Amino acid sequence: MTTTSTRPFRSDNPALDNALGQLATAVEILGYHEGLHETLATPRREINVAVPLRRDDGHVQVFHGHRVQHNVSRGPGKGGLRFHPSVDIDEVRALAMLMTWKCAIVDLPFGGAKGGIDIDPSEHTPEELERVTRRYTSEIMPLIGPTQDIMAPDMGTGEREMAWVMDTYSVNVGHTIPAVVTGKPLAVGGSLGRPAATARGIVHVTASALGAAHEKLRRSRVAVQGFGKVGGHAARIFAEEGATVVAVSDQFGAVHADGGLDVPALLAHVDATGSVVGFEGADPLDGPDLLTLDVDVLVPAAVDGVITADNARDVRARYVVEGANGPTTQEADQILSKQGVTVVPDILANAGGVIVSYFEWVQANQTYWWTDDEIEDRLAHRMRSAYGDVARRAADEDLTLRDAALVIGVERVADAHKLRGLYP
Ligand code: GLU
Repeated sequence: MTTTSTRPFRSDNPALDNALGQLATAVEILGYHEGLHETLATPRREINVAVPLRRDDGHVQVFHGHRVQHNVSRGPGKGGLRFHPSVDIDEVRALAMLMTWKCAIVDLPFGGAKGGIDIDPSEHTPEELERVTRRYTSEIMPLIGPTQDIMAPDMGTGEREMAWVMDTYSVNVGHTIPAVVTGKPLAVGGSLGRPAATARGIVHVTASALGAAHEKLRRSRVAVQGFGKVGGHAARIFAEEGATVVAVSDQFGAVHADGGLDVPALLAHVDATGSVVGFEGADPLDGPDLLTLDVDVLVPAAVDGVITADNARDVRARYVVEGANGPTTQEADQILSKQGVTVVPDILANAGGVIVSYFEWVQANQTYWWTDDEIEDRLAHRMRSAYGDVARRAADEDLTLRDAALVIGVERVADAHKLRGLYP
């Protein structure tokens, strides 16, 4: 982090610079002093670890792992573990900061954390990925735990990796501790509803946003970028709720059907072929063109930085609901806002995942598991009430939904700091 005269905290890393810029905006609206700004901008704890892997052919390759606890004032650190070649400490810092605000906005008793390894999982066998996951977990053992820092899946990881993390931690401690990670398989203490939770939350906030303008999900036309853990479930649930899903994309391409895609058939096609490309009953589309389709709702649910100053003016959707973390750059955000596009920000829109992670952690701590309906009702209640808080704040103070969400998240964390005081 370096200091400039215009804005106190900057970074050369675009994701971290974006996150710091968002924090600076919230701090300015809230009128906080510099010391509090610096406290909120600075991660509480970080660990960098070498992750040497013995490849299946016997040679050794070293990866770089990180875990950042951005803030723990409202509770233990919480956040995913990312496997992606672009992972570095600054990206993890940015994502950990977003987790802090996200947990506070939906009022979970958690701080924010994130971890990552600079590995491309598609280039490794399950055996290699298991060794990497276990070595990383062992290296960061002193920092994690069910009351310290609770991991979860993120890009490139899933319930399989969470089972390995839980097992490695538990074996080292000497007994099984399911609450050290969330997003685990059901059979080892996972929660019903967790795999589709982020997507379900996206559909709830979309319904709330449309409802605020007296529009109906059933009449809306939706495009979803990404057809993985978030986008695939989101497209399915949108269709189940009666919306018309006109286009979806994955890393290989996109498909478009003006009258609406048959999403269950598309999911079966992806199961069989590994991609949406080649799906009959839809026209092929260039991936980037999905972002500028004439739809009501655009859900970027793939990677970060896809709506930029270069394409924001061409976005024709009236609502952008951010399924991914950080899909819109700050410049693009301002352009969309000037164009009258309602952006439901990531820290609110994709919070369904961490909400059901919280439910999973509560269930593991109680060793009592809830039904599907209980989880769904509680998720719907939390998402809709968080949307209500954010929309009211936005209306009262004439803010965008993003700024209102940030202000609420940052304020709740700052209040915790003030109440706890500074030690010593
Ligand atoms: N990785 C997800 C996110 O970015 C989930 C985090 C969690 O469940 O702790 O929100």
